[in-house]
Amino acid sequence: MAASGFVNALPAKRRVHLDFHTPDFVANVGERFSAQALADALAGGEVEQAAFFAKCHYGNAYYPTKVGRAHPGLQRDMLGEFVSGAAARGVRTFAYYSLGFDVWYGTQHPDTMQHPEPFFQRSWGPWTAMCVNGPYGEYAREQLAEVVRGYDVAGVWLDIVGYYPVCVCARCREAYQRGTGHDLPFDDDKPDAGIGTDYYRWQRQMLDEYTGGLATLLAGLRPGCELLCNTATGIREKAAGVTNQDDGQWCEEAVGNRPHTFTAMSLYSSLFDNAVRPRPFEICSQRFHMGWGDWTLRPLEELKHDTATILAHGGLPSIGDQLYGDGRFEAPVYERIGDAYRWLKPRQAFCGTTRPAAEVGVFAASSGPASDPGGIKYNGNACRNGEGLFKAVMDAHCPVAALADLAALAGGRYAVVLIDENLPDTDEGVAALEAYVESGGHVLSVGVGPERYWPLLGVTEAKPLPTPVSYIRMADAPPGDLSMPVLARIQGHGVKLEAGAEALGYWTHPLSGKSKGDFYSHQHGPPGPATEEPAVWRVTRGAGSVIGVAAPIATDYWHTSYSALRKMIVACLDTLLDGRRQVYAEGLPAIAEVALRTNDEAVFVHVIAPSVSRPGTREAGETFFMDAAVGIHDVRIGLRVPEGRACTAADQLGHALTMTPDERDGYVRVELAPFRTHTAVRFDFR
Ligand SMILES: [Zn+2]
Repeated sequence: MAASGFVNALPAKRRVHLDFHTPDFVANVGERFSAQALADALAGGEVEQAAFFAKCHYGNAYYPTKVGRAHPGLQRDMLGEFVSGAAARGVRTFAYYSLGFDVWYGTQHPDTMQHPEPFFQRSWGPWTAMCVNGPYGEYAREQLAEVVRGYDVAGVWLDIVGYYPVCVCARCREAYQRGTGHDLPFDDDKPDAGIGTDYYRWQRQMLDEYTGGLATLLAGLRPGCELLCNTATGIREKAAGVTNQDDGQWCEEAVGNRPHTFTAMSLYSSLFDNAVRPRPFEICSQRFHMGWGDWTLRPLEELKHDTATILAHGGLPSIGDQLYGDGRFEAPVYERIGDAYRWLKPRQAFCGTTRPAAEVGVFAASSGPASDPGGIKYNGNACRNGEGLFKAVMDAHCPVAALADLAALAGGRYAVVLIDENLPDTDEGVAALEAYVESGGHVLSVGVGPERYWPLLGVTEAKPLPTPVSYIRMADAPPGDLSMPVLARIQGHGVKLEAGAEALGYWTHPLSGKSKGDFYSHQHGPPGPATEEPAVWRVTRGAGSVIGVAAPIATDYWHTSYSALRKMIVACLDTLLDGRRQVYAEGLPAIAEVALRTNDEAVFVHVIAPSVSRPGTREAGETFFMDAAVGIHDVRIGLRVPEGRACTAADQLGHALTMTPDERDGYVRVELAPFRTHTAVRFDFR
């Protein structure tokens, strides 16, 4: 099977990540470490694989290394003790290795550090960012070979695999010029002019060759030894198939507990799950509430939420912990991880190996290929990676796939793809969408995007509206939110459309702008008289069609969760789907997610319903906390039965459900037994 869903194909379905970045001043490092006690705790917690430190961000090794330097306070072979102790309890070890940060090496050889000045800030926190191009890369390779030769590890967990955001050291400059024959595409005297995409691409390629070489080296030294790359800045490139696909498993951290994290857990998983060339992937959650090493312990329901979300998207869950400097750990952490994993284990077994099945896709990548240092960060206001669209569709309980590349549309799986204004400004991007629509696909464009897409959207002219805030009045809207003008608070466009375009909604401008002379009241003027200026429209193209919305209302939704915006997006989506969603769920709270997977015999509907606290505030935004889970009752699921098949049975985690005909033709309907946080239903077909 070429798709993802490796859950049952891999020997390690439940994982833990043991952070251990220990500065030199910790004198008694590992003094109270007991590999046996830790292995017992892991095995008791249903953990099958753990990442354990070979070398940390400080450059300190936790075994007696001949290549590098062991932590100056280390009196033992922690890695060796752990590998043996864990193996005795059936837990596999991945040796953690910090590639991109190494304070010890960088301090001694400053010329091997990444040299971002004058373009960017250097390093992150206390940790020095290293360049793999040159002696440091050789050093890391030798040390990794030493680890894999010396210890019976199942793999290497390679961290900080990226540039922050680019290196302009003497070696990179020289290698770029030698490799490409081009002059450097930047001017040290004019840092504001930037660096250009060619250099980013070249650097990405150089890094790919390095990690690809590492994967080959390690597998050669110890057959079956896997390389896992924490993609760091490369999640989009990985999922889009842009970068090296031969460097093993993937990982992404979806850390912390801010509101966006709840969405990011799904988004990161979905991007990998629907990658152009998918690989097994791990998503690393944490025991910590806000982030690494805050020494809090999140409630059980949060660990359940995270791991079930990862399962629902075909990934392998890992929960991050951190040892104290003296090597101790807290037993309650593993009791709680065990409670979560004992709950998850039968769910993993029930679902088996499946592949993603959502027919609605969201283009989830920022506009500039490899020109966007830092890659995808679903944490800001910019909303440049499809997260607003993803959230809107997800909040409507409609299964959705995050797509890192428009080329993914060629596979024929997607009935509708949603795009926002952050499209690749390239002919390839337009061609991919055109081919998709011509062959019967439908596009919902929320925002007008780059000008080269306008002909496809049916737009002949687009200009920013005179007021930054305006209102959209949907034509023929049923009574409710959409029958009154809907506030669109991010700059929209006045558009002229090609003949034959059908207007579905119109602009209604505010009575006044917000200036000293025209000040209406506290925020905006109320909507004025109706206009005939189209704000939402539809055009047909070949066998498919396009609906356009002339304002970035998905970004607005990401910021505000204003339900009328979601309803507008979903009404357009339903129009394009002709009222034939894959799943209809009734009775779920808005924060719930419905995900859909399949194998050859059955369809699995996952429902994830986190119960969250009211958000408080802090400088960087609110946090959520799930304490006790709320029981979810009276949920009904209507599933569209694949054409030519009949549904023979429905089973909710081992309990047979009664199937009833749905009011919609070709659907089967079940009422779910009450559940908390997550449930899954298998529908069998013949
Ligand atoms: Zn460099």
